[in-house]
Amino acid sequence: MSTLRFKVVEEAFKREPVAIKIPKEFPSEYFGKYVFNRAKMSKYLSKDTMGVVIKAIDEGVTLPRSISDHVAAGMKMWAMEMGATHYTHWFQPLTEGTAEKHDSFIEYSGSPLESEILERFSGKLLAQQEPDASSFPSGGIRNTFEARGYTAWDPSSPAFIVEDTLCIPTVFISYTGEALDYKTPLLKSLSAIDKAAVEVCQLFDSNVKKVYSFLGWEQEFFLVDQALYSARPDLMLTDRTLMGHESAKNQQLEDHYFGAIPARVHAFMRELEFEAYRYGIPIKTRHNEVAPNQFEFAPIYGETNLAVDQNLIVISLMHKIANKHNFRLLLHEKPFEGINGSGKHCNWSLGTDSGVGLFTPGKTAEENLQFVTFLVNAVMAVYKHNALLKASIASASNAHRLGALEAPPAIISVFLGTQISAVFDKIVDSAENNSITMDELKRMKLGVAHVPEVLIDNTDRNRTSPFAFTGNRFEFRAVGSSANCSAAMIVLNSILAAQLASFTNEVTEKTSNGMPKEEAIFEILRRYIKESKPIRFDGNGYSDEWKEEAKIRGLDCETSVPLMYDAYTSKDSVEMFRSIGVLNSTELVARNEVKWEVYTKKIQIESRVLGDLSINHIIPVATRYQSALLDNLYKIKVVFDEQRAAELSKEDSSLIEQIAKHISVIKRDVDAMIEARKVANRIEDSREKAIAYCNTVEPYFSVIRYHVDKLELIVDNEIWPLPKYRELLFIN
Ligand code: ADP
Ligand code: MG
Repeated sequence: MSTLRFKVVEEAFKREPVAIKIPKEFPSEYFGKYVFNRAKMSKYLSKDTMGVVIKAIDEGVTLPRSISDHVAAGMKMWAMEMGATHYTHWFQPLTEGTAEKHDSFIEYSGSPLESEILERFSGKLLAQQEPDASSFPSGGIRNTFEARGYTAWDPSSPAFIVEDTLCIPTVFISYTGEALDYKTPLLKSLSAIDKAAVEVCQLFDSNVKKVYSFLGWEQEFFLVDQALYSARPDLMLTDRTLMGHESAKNQQLEDHYFGAIPARVHAFMRELEFEAYRYGIPIKTRHNEVAPNQFEFAPIYGETNLAVDQNLIVISLMHKIANKHNFRLLLHEKPFEGINGSGKHCNWSLGTDSGVGLFTPGKTAEENLQFVTFLVNAVMAVYKHNALLKASIASASNAHRLGALEAPPAIISVFLGTQISAVFDKIVDSAENNSITMDELKRMKLGVAHVPEVLIDNTDRNRTSPFAFTGNRFEFRAVGSSANCSAAMIVLNSILAAQLASFTNEVTEKTSNGMPKEEAIFEILRRYIKESKPIRFDGNGYSDEWKEEAKIRGLDCETSVPLMYDAYTSKDSVEMFRSIGVLNSTELVARNEVKWEVYTKKIQIESRVLGDLSINHIIPVATRYQSALLDNLYKIKVVFDEQRAAELSKEDSSLIEQIAKHISVIKRDVDAMIEARKVANRIEDSREKAIAYCNTVEPYFSVIRYHVDKLELIVDNEIWPLPKYRELLFIN
């Protein structure tokens, strides 16, 4: 008997929902309780200080040190009243998740000899810290013996309290100023898009002073009972199953998606929502996803920097609360073969300070021309930088999801839908047959506005597109569930900022040569629409024909993750990032180093776990079963005459042969895989090493798995050591 597997299955089956305590108040009463938001600021800061902080947030100017002292004092008072005793700079290194190092508020009040302490938190401590962060990846920018990185306060994302600790969102940069994190370039890309988009808006409305980027993420995830999880070393160490035969039933009946949320999961979700509200995170949607034991949370969209931070807070809450409910959270993009993986759709749009959505069809001709201008520029930006956009979502784990049954392929294309496509076509046509006047064009665009928004939003959707226009925003669906949304948001906002800047230049050039503004705009848009045509694809993105077609269209079709990263340092990308001041070439090169290292490590760990499981868990059990079969054969021979024994032994003999074959292939391939790892480990260059891991180590995974999964079908269920797919996916 496989005691562990049956023990954990029994344990998981017996579990009841964990009781939760949620106060009777409405969410609006505790929403943002743990956040030092504007309401808290106005209570704990003087009017003058508050004014300067708000201005700093809105206009992105640096806070004077004297002001930081005031803010720190107010923040400390609030935090201590909330029971906080510690503070930390909370930042987003280039690994996954967030990092923090807690310090207590205590300090000696005078000389150490007096041994008196008090709680202190100065503006200096709020504004800047030097974490001993030499172990965070820097891609070689920051030599450990040289200078350390430092963290600096980002006032645009409010501080918050986790248990006893005040968390201050910060950027993380090297002494020489290079970004070592996600937040620094994200903030730069947000100010770049603000600047470039305001200039374009002013062609239509001189009142626009600020443009915001908005993000609404949809976080998908799996939950697995913690007892089952503890009996799966692959889940524990790699966040995915490296082996396991498909369950006879998985998602084909689509009963999970439409089904009620299981009771234990419902308790988890309610507690998560409650906690999220206290962090000011407006979780709006919770539901089952397509695959069994797969679920989703989505908030109401918000300003991008804030939305990214909120996603990271939600992820850490999800881990914590899942554990409390005896689940483990799986954020891997493809934890199980044969069923849907998890993504994190990033809904992205731009909006002005006057409340106009720039990807929203307008009510007037002017607004519609502006809408079309932004849409065409966005399509053009994605066309020019489709390889870079793909690189922004590429990772060792997302590679398993992209191109698999339910997910967008590893090719970026844009879906616009029939109505918007028709508008684009008409704009192009208007020049060619020269019969449509500017006035008519305006009216045609009014026609777009007259299409009720619901119609654009709901009737014309294509679920197979990695980047789809959905009525008032783009939905970037290729983003993986474990990703920091910043990676995608940095690229999207940057490429559009650069594109808008060159659009403005072109318009200015034409108008200064005397061309009327509208005519200039139309002429340029017409050219963009024609030029960017190859990126537009409304058909089935999952089909094989599309892969062929995309190649012919010249879109980036690279499928190897280490090679996808090259797009970050291509001439076009370096120039694009430089032109808008988001990342310089040193940073781009260093960040790629980190990406390759992370890629290599992930494959290396998976390879080790796979080898260990195969040799130490699977083969011994298969051998044991084989030996029982041999035993049986032996007994048959003793009891029956030769002819009858031969007849009776046929099945067992064949199974023995099959087991022997699978075992020998597994052994051989694990050895070969270890050899391939040794060869790859000798490579110094991180890019070459990642390529070697991708091309020479990873290919063994599916071969070894194939034979292990075959053994799972043969070996006595009673002794199979790892919880099976049906147990992992259907116990909740
Ligand atoms: P879906 O049908 O894709 O699940 P939802 O209505 O659930 O769509 O919305 C998904 C996400 O898109 C939510 O976070 C929502 O707030 C966000 N969203 C809606 N409008 C916008 C917008 N204009 N800009 C950015 N995000 C948006
Ligand atoms: Mg969606």
